[in-house]
Amino acid sequence: MSQQHTVILVGAGHAHLYVAAHAETLVERGARVVLVDPTEFWYSGMATGMLGGMYEPVADQIDPRPLIEAHGGEFIQGRVESVDSRARQLHLADGGVLAFDYESINVGSQVDVNAIPGAANDPSVWSVKPVAKLWKLREHLEAKFRERETLRIVVVGGGPTGSEVTANLIALAARHDSDLRLSLVTNGDRLIPEAPAGAARALQRKLTRRGVVIRTQTQVVRREGELLIAEDGSLIEADIVVLAIGLEAHPLVHKTGLPTRPKDGLRINAMLHSIADERVFAAGDCASMEGFNLPKLGVFGVRQAAYIHANLLASLESKPLAEYEPQKRYLAILNLGDGTALSTWGPFWWNGRSSMWLKHWIDHRFLEDYR
Ligand SMILES: Cc1cc2nc3c(=O)[nH]c(=O)nc-3n(C[C@H](O)[C@H](O)[C@H](O)COP(=O)(O)OP(=O)(O)OC[C@H]3O[C@@H](n4cnc5c(N)ncnc54)[C@H](O)[C@@H]3O)c2cc1C
Repeated sequence: MSQQHTVILVGAGHAHLYVAAHAETLVERGARVVLVDPTEFWYSGMATGMLGGMYEPVADQIDPRPLIEAHGGEFIQGRVESVDSRARQLHLADGGVLAFDYESINVGSQVDVNAIPGAANDPSVWSVKPVAKLWKLREHLEAKFRERETLRIVVVGGGPTGSEVTANLIALAARHDSDLRLSLVTNGDRLIPEAPAGAARALQRKLTRRGVVIRTQTQVVRREGELLIAEDGSLIEADIVVLAIGLEAHPLVHKTGLPTRPKDGLRINAMLHSIADERVFAAGDCASMEGFNLPKLGVFGVRQAAYIHANLLASLESKPLAEYEPQKRYLAILNLGDGTALSTWGPFWWNGRSSMWLKHWIDHRFLEDYR
């Protein structure tokens, strides 16, 4: 290859860890490969275990710099603010500008804190993303536990994340021999609505037995002082609120000038590039694949990783690109904070210590691959 191309990887998400670990294959084809990220990668699979005290934060992080540098690429610590796709330039928060020939975006998702008026500027309201916040929350709670305060904590959101967070808050309090008044509030009829009904019942029983008050069909509409206000007018007291109300694509994708869906992300096709620009790829939570409504889960970014890598390589070699087809079923394992976990796969579910052992093994294998 005569001309050098610059490939910029925006965000060290799940897919880009894989590309970084295989960067030499792009470098061998004459490309300059640059990974841009403001921080370490925090692995969400172990985040609730970290919140509950099962893991220390260092066990949950990967430093992307040595990873990409060991494979012939470069790392820039920075936050991408916007993308000028037409000029093929990225604008960084510090004013820097980076030119690219090919770009791949893997910047993840966020919680829409503004969905609950009064929540955004309230320091007692925490959200589950970015994952590093869960470490800050743990530190905050541990300080309160040392003062022997009995806190009223309300987790809003009864999906897998809200349920896992709740279970691990109980675990954290137990480790510190402290009391919590913990509620889990959801607007759904039951917890983990995508999972089999039996799994949801087992989860609900377990949390209730451990003292959690579960309120279903309760839509939280406002935060005011120490109260959460529900649509039906009911008032829920909360010293601390944790928002697990679902994930939406990182706002950066809406600053690319390329087609996006408001919450889902950059519109990509089966080759994982923008439907309007074959030089801009995207993967994971910030991408919205045409014809699919994929849940915002790390497992999809992990599966897309090899395709992003293969298609960047094929683009450099002007070869046909591969088509990714999302799997219909996926294994989800919820860490229940007491040494057990709840596994679901399509209509099947099982819980117990073997599930936790499997989760532990999968998570550690993933992280060890990139250390
Ligand atoms: C508490 C919790 C537990 C979860 N547990 C699971 C689970 O067990 N299994 C599962 O499949 N899913 C789980 N999820 C969902 C999972 O977190 C997401 O689906 C997954 O993180 C998305 O991966 P990603 O690769 O798209 O982005 P991420 O892993 O979020 O990575 C995004 C990267 O982009 C970087 N970045 C952000 N903004 C910029 C910018 N402007 N410029 C440059 N870089 C930027 C970030 O620093 C980060 O390194 C969980 C979510 C939460 C909140």
